[in-house]
Amino acid sequence: MRRTRVAVVGIGGLGTHVVQQLAFLGVGTIAAMDHEDLDETNLNRYVGARHDDPIPGTPKVDIAERTVRGIDEGITVVKIREPLVSERAFSAVKASDWAFGCVDTDGPRFILNELCAAYGIKYVDLATDVEPGPPLKYGGRVFVSDNGDGCLSCLQMLDMKQVNWYLAGEGQREDLANIYGVSRDLLGRSGPSVVSINGVVASLAVTEFMVGCTGLRSPRRHMVYDATDSKVRISLDQPVEGCWYCKVMRGTGVNADVERYLATNAS
Ligand SMILES: [Zn+2]
Repeated sequence: MRRTRVAVVGIGGLGTHVVQQLAFLGVGTIAAMDHEDLDETNLNRYVGARHDDPIPGTPKVDIAERTVRGIDEGITVVKIREPLVSERAFSAVKASDWAFGCVDTDGPRFILNELCAAYGIKYVDLATDVEPGPPLKYGGRVFVSDNGDGCLSCLQMLDMKQVNWYLAGEGQREDLANIYGVSRDLLGRSGPSVVSINGVVASLAVTEFMVGCTGLRSPRRHMVYDATDSKVRISLDQPVEGCWYCKVMRGTGVNADVERYLATNAS
């Protein structure tokens, strides 16, 4: 664990749980990435955020750093207060052995999936979702892409409409409309009460990282947490054959030219 370098992309409702658990596991380096500051709607679910943290004025990456420092001073913390599509964030992911995607929307997921494939970084993707319905559904999922045997693209787990909006530079509009699928209009100044669901999803994800990192067993590719029915099931969905990301560009590094995103207006 101590030799392992991990990037956590998105220090939010899921990312703060992940950072805390990685610190308890004693990983060597944690690169925490998020360009935003804490806001009032975050306070009901961000592990390590305090009621008296100044709002505005508390970068989310500072919360991650404080959490890690409080647990283990021997861990190297790299703070990247920039969006994923930035030189520093790309470099930090490329310098990592594992990356956790703890982002809200499929635009950054799409790019992270590609970046990790290009550089052979093991990728763990987390999502919590609330579908207001009816019927109301809530839960989450964990996805691990560690060896080219399936990724978010060939398992068709991305909403390409959302991805294309993001790539067109309009992703922010969608970000602002909903939090975990719940309309901001309904939430007022609070956030959705998903702290416990996030805790389950983050714990499932960090467990898969832990077993994969130590070699205890192979990580599960895709697990679904259905909190409505109190079940965790292992998805048996199979990847579409001949995936470009898994079979062609994986491990080709700079030749894959993921860096082309840095020249666009996506952020
Ligand atoms: Zn794939």
